[in-house]
Amino acid sequence: MANQQNILDTSIEYVKGIGPARGETFRKELNIHTVYDLLFTFPFRYIDRTTFHLIKDIHTDGDNIQLKGTLVSLEKVKSKSNRSRLTGMFKDSTGFLELVWFQGATWLDKTLKVGEEYIVYGRVTIFSGKKTIAHPEMELISDAVVSIAKTFDPVYSSTEKMDGKGLDSKARRKIVKALLLSISETDLPETLPPYVIDKLKICSRYNALQWIHFPQDDSQKELATNRIKFEEFFFVQIRLLQSKIYRQYKYKSAPFATIGDYFNTFYKTKLAFELTNAQKKVIKEIRTDMGKTTQMNRLLQGDVGSGKTVVALLSMLIALDNGFQSCMMAPTEILAQQHYASITSSLGDMPVKVAFLSGSIKGKKREGILSELREGNIHILIGTHALIENTVVFSRLGLAIVDEQHRFGVAQRASLWKKNDELAPHILVMTATPIPRTLAMTLYGDLDVSVIDELPPGRKEIQTIHKYENARPQLIQFMHSEIAKGRQIYIVYPLIEESEKLDLQNLQDGYERLLQYFPLPDYQISVVHGRMKAKDKDWEMQRFINKTTQIMVATTVIEVGVNVPNASVMVIENTERFGLSQLHQLRGRVGRGADQSYCILMTDYKVSKEGKERIATMVRTNNGFEIAEADLKLRGPGDIQGTQQSGLLDFKLLNIGQDKAIMDAARHIAIRIIEDDPKLERVIHENIRHQVAKLRIKHKDWGRVS
Ligand code: ADP
Ligand code: MG
Repeated sequence: MANQQNILDTSIEYVKGIGPARGETFRKELNIHTVYDLLFTFPFRYIDRTTFHLIKDIHTDGDNIQLKGTLVSLEKVKSKSNRSRLTGMFKDSTGFLELVWFQGATWLDKTLKVGEEYIVYGRVTIFSGKKTIAHPEMELISDAVVSIAKTFDPVYSSTEKMDGKGLDSKARRKIVKALLLSISETDLPETLPPYVIDKLKICSRYNALQWIHFPQDDSQKELATNRIKFEEFFFVQIRLLQSKIYRQYKYKSAPFATIGDYFNTFYKTKLAFELTNAQKKVIKEIRTDMGKTTQMNRLLQGDVGSGKTVVALLSMLIALDNGFQSCMMAPTEILAQQHYASITSSLGDMPVKVAFLSGSIKGKKREGILSELREGNIHILIGTHALIENTVVFSRLGLAIVDEQHRFGVAQRASLWKKNDELAPHILVMTATPIPRTLAMTLYGDLDVSVIDELPPGRKEIQTIHKYENARPQLIQFMHSEIAKGRQIYIVYPLIEESEKLDLQNLQDGYERLLQYFPLPDYQISVVHGRMKAKDKDWEMQRFINKTTQIMVATTVIEVGVNVPNASVMVIENTERFGLSQLHQLRGRVGRGADQSYCILMTDYKVSKEGKERIATMVRTNNGFEIAEADLKLRGPGDIQGTQQSGLLDFKLLNIGQDKAIMDAARHIAIRIIEDDPKLERVIHENIRHQVAKLRIKHKDWGRVS
């Protein structure tokens, strides 16, 4: 078996029409090494050769269209800026259409042939008040054998170097076409069991590959695309679910059978409010999980302000009631400190020993904490990723909580499990902001999920308002009146890496302008930004928390977790420069007290279309889950913070913002299969098992989880 050379494993240079030099180009430019790589690099669009449009019917609706007709004339025009453009007049039996090229005018002028019949392909736009196609693809009818055969022609991404080596999309089309003809179904065995294919009415893998390159109609294109998308997600799910099962089998945890004094005393005497039903439901889920000898691996999702911290604390008290330590890890120092402050203050005089650890805790103090921890004298350790360092050793770690913003990788999470000798701690992962369900299924598909879908009662909906610069006088007035009522105000400036200096200047200017309207000594203003020393930052924060200052001017360092219930106004400057989830996080800093809160989104007059969409979303809804969905749609998963390196999102065709139905089906079926046959030992699952093994070799990072 092992020695049998499959045509798909053939090195790219041996493919007819490629050879050593072009093979090298494929490797270097596109990371394509084998026939398999070539065939599994799909076209990014198709030229629709199935229909020819008529000039009289064309619209400027954004779609590419194909026309057939004659090039009547060509004219090179020099513009005022002395750049030439080439315009052409094209006609079919129904009318005339102008074509224009702004680049390569001289070359095209020489190669295009007036009086000949062409197939013209491109997008119709309005130029100088007329319908025009700019930079159309032109193909002489006499050359276009394929085109007239009414197909979709694949278009592959290319590079300048590839074009130079004669490997443009057209050339590649020929190579791929020939290759596909030489591939049989045995070369490309099915990876899914027949019953799945039947049930979902999807096409075979072999057909999918043929059709994804050369579909004859829309239905083939769709069948092929859906099959490939399904497969992409299905195998990610199989892998996640298998590692979940494997973990359950491999890692045992201490069952927390008791609900004892710590939990009960806190619940009865310290808890300042009634838990929401959603919080109760989630605590029940966690209790049930932690009552078992299998390790809990649970994701807790809840909107900003939904009260995840108290759920975390109650879970840690259950661990303590059973004689175990807990730790809680946050993505930033500020957030970790907030957790520490809020947890110690809500515990009050209870005999629970809580400690804080981060990179900034050094020397004797650190050693003290570490030795107390080893002795088991510290019950709860809160901190940053400093917690996963090897020097941090617990006496009996029973529960590890990770509060994350898609920032910790699977590997980092895993390193927490190993913090206990024999028994693995139970794991609770909390997300700082909600993430869309499809993204959660992917990034956290190996975890069980709890959702807090309800905010504590009595919260007034934050009013979100978009204002342009001309409303600044009103804004100042509004700030004065809120401060007069005793409220506090945040003003946040964007800080983007590349232009950090400029941004700090913005913040500085903004601060100085504020001083004119809110002069000392009647008013006090805190300033906090990322370039400050931690000590100074803390001091400024503290002044805001204890109400010495009424206004806090800050960069996004306050984004996560800061909790000042008396602050009721959040002003965001240059809103157009923030991402949606960031805006939602920022808004979540207000609305924490009983007062009506406001979020004011200031922008320049010029805002991009996407920027407008983000702002409209913020104004429309306060629901973090809705915002997360909108964010995913607008930006795509690749841009969502921290997800890039995960390797889990390397899909070729699947779009997790759009392919919900396919993802649901794939997950659903994967769950059924893994529950029924966790090791994929049944004959009917043999091909799944083979494919998993293959993928495991191909994606080495797959191994990291298990
Ligand atoms: P997040 O889920 O964003 O981490 P927090 O845990 O910081 O939210 O909770 C936000 C605020 O709501 C805190 O001040 C917390 O004390 C308060 N809170 C949490 N649960 C309740 C509840 N059931 N009733 C009233 N207030 C609550
Ligand atoms: Mg929180």
